[in-house]
Amino acid sequence: MRRKIAILGATGSIGKSTLDLVERNPERFEVVAVTAATNAEKLADIARRTRAEVAVIADESRLRDLQELLAGSGCRVDAGESALVEAASGEAELVIAAIVGCAGLRPVMAAVEAGKIVALANKEALVTAGELMTSAAQSSGATLLPIDSEHNAIFQCLVANHAGTVSRLILTASGGPFRTASPELIAEATPAQAIAHPNWSMGAKISVDSATMMNKGLELIEARYLFGLPSDRIDVLIHPQSVVHSLVEFVDGSVLAQLGAPDMRIPIAYALAWPERMATPARRLDLAAVARLDFEAPDLTRFPALRLAREALEKGGAAPIVLNAANEVAVAAFLAGRVRFPEIAKLVERALDRSDCAAPRSINDVVEIDRLMRSRVEALMHETCH
Ligand code: NAD
Ligand code: MG
Repeated sequence: MRRKIAILGATGSIGKSTLDLVERNPERFEVVAVTAATNAEKLADIARRTRAEVAVIADESRLRDLQELLAGSGCRVDAGESALVEAASGEAELVIAAIVGCAGLRPVMAAVEAGKIVALANKEALVTAGELMTSAAQSSGATLLPIDSEHNAIFQCLVANHAGTVSRLILTASGGPFRTASPELIAEATPAQAIAHPNWSMGAKISVDSATMMNKGLELIEARYLFGLPSDRIDVLIHPQSVVHSLVEFVDGSVLAQLGAPDMRIPIAYALAWPERMATPARRLDLAAVARLDFEAPDLTRFPALRLAREALEKGGAAPIVLNAANEVAVAAFLAGRVRFPEIAKLVERALDRSDCAAPRSINDVVEIDRLMRSRVEALMHETCH
């Protein structure tokens, strides 16, 4: 029996790595649904190649184009958020959640509520709705499998160990392109410099998040909800080689780590084949060639985003939603050349200072707080930058 999968965000970086693995293993997987934001041409190409049953474009104005591109293919075509939700909760047994940002929240939640195996790359969904999502997974019987390399590493280290014996999680971080840069240089960083990640090739938003280290901040919150440990038992460790993907310390003092080449196909393959393993074409780790592994403490002065994320996690309530919304707006503005690099963390800090929303009780609350915060941060940007 082939495993039926849906790929949400099929046109992105995680989508591409997933498709590479799926196409190498046609006997194992059957793609039933693929989705994208606006790129109808690329989505149609993917739908034809994979013989998907349904292709969904989020941007409704591109539905006509997608219909024309897929005419005669036998692939059903749809558009808009409700169609994304249907694709996520439909026929697939396993859903690859690879939409970027809070835009993925409703589809991911729909997959969780439908009791799917959810291979989660879309960390923003868990950051903004952690409690709601993990409790929905408990009642529906859904399985959350992290694709984010750090969380996938921790997940692997936890197999065959009792949760009660874990004393600490240690998330590694490459430090991004500005790890050794002076504050003056960081202040002048351009979008091109910020997305040039030293070890990983990824979408633009997460690449900027890696440069500010907000990515590790979001991952700290992600780890809190995936593994249920409080903030003071989740550490961040800079490790520039990106070979050790994360570590778990146990009560007896043992530390387990997962290592590998920095290739997202490794954690994606783990999720695709779970609870088995499958082969990947990823480069094998040659530790003699790597020769040394370095570790250092993160610098919270040059990278305030990491401190802000920890504060938001500890404050709880709606603070992680505010943090994420402000960051999404600020990163988009930075990529569009509207604000300078250091403004990203400053905007997030100001948004957090001014907000005191109550904890969300439903996904509708999360979406509402997210929307409100986006317009507030837009207004803040006008105040600061004009
Ligand atoms: P990307 O920008 O390359 O791709 C994003 C995908 O989401 C695209 O298919 C796009 O069409 C779709 N999308 C964007 N906005 C949408 C919207 N409003 N509605 C519906 N679909 C939309 O991003 P990526 O690098 O593949 O990252 C995807 C997610 O995985 C992010 O949450 C990121 O943090 C996480 N992640 C990525 C990597 C990586 O190596 N790329 C590693 C770990 C985690
Ligand atoms: Mg990661």
